[in-house]
Amino acid sequence: MSALATILRRRPARLALVSVLGLGVLFGGAAAANAAMGQVRTQESPLTVRSGPGTGYAAVGTVAKGASLTISCRTKGTRVSGPYGATDVWNKVGDGRYVSDAFTTSTEKAPQCSSTQLRTVQLVAFKGARACSSDERGYANGRVPASARCALYGDKGESLRPRAAAAFNALSMAYERENGRALCVTDSYRSLEEQVAVKAKRGKWAAKPGTSEHGLGKAVDLCGGVGTFGSDAYRWMKANGPKFGWVHPDWAEPGGKLPEPWHWEYRG
Ligand SMILES: [Zn+2]
Repeated sequence: MSALATILRRRPARLALVSVLGLGVLFGGAAAANAAMGQVRTQESPLTVRSGPGTGYAAVGTVAKGASLTISCRTKGTRVSGPYGATDVWNKVGDGRYVSDAFTTSTEKAPQCSSTQLRTVQLVAFKGARACSSDERGYANGRVPASARCALYGDKGESLRPRAAAAFNALSMAYERENGRALCVTDSYRSLEEQVAVKAKRGKWAAKPGTSEHGLGKAVDLCGGVGTFGSDAYRWMKANGPKFGWVHPDWAEPGGKLPEPWHWEYRG
């Protein structure tokens, strides 16, 4: 802190900014991601602020025409038409607060949002994305009771842990709005017995029973095109999954030890 104190003494005019950066360093380097900010001026009155980067997210407020907003980062979402043409760019103006770039003029361009910055999307704001259970207790792999799992949107019989399911359902609904159908699920939670059966059938393509992410109820195997690297559906998942906490793990990437385009995990 002594270095920071020195800076504060030398640069009194920047005190507020330096304090924020100092806190960022203390709390795990968040400052690096947030240091570059942009400014936008709204051109519509009032402009709706949404909980995520798209028109499918809940409206969480409005801002008056001409207001100056500080944006921490930009990301892609629903394509919107406004006074400045059509764009799929959305500006993050706070935690769980986004405005479409179609209604704003930028004086400074903010950087692309990192997956960490996007993770603040408020999942409960999605229609139908409420968790069916609040039981998030730790259970042994493959031993998660039905009461601690929630059904997946559009797929009878498939289930995940409550938060993972809520996030997945929101993601699946977003996919459906853009592509006309929900995400197709081959496999989700797997009990220990099911993991043993899958191992016997698939050999090296399945995890050792009792170690699979599927046994924790936080992984899905997807169909409907996602099972092919580079397909439209796969690229949609790569672009949008992280906004909902769903990522494609490194080991399953094309250069990973077990390339599996269909396997996705919840890290929210
Ligand atoms: Zn899998």
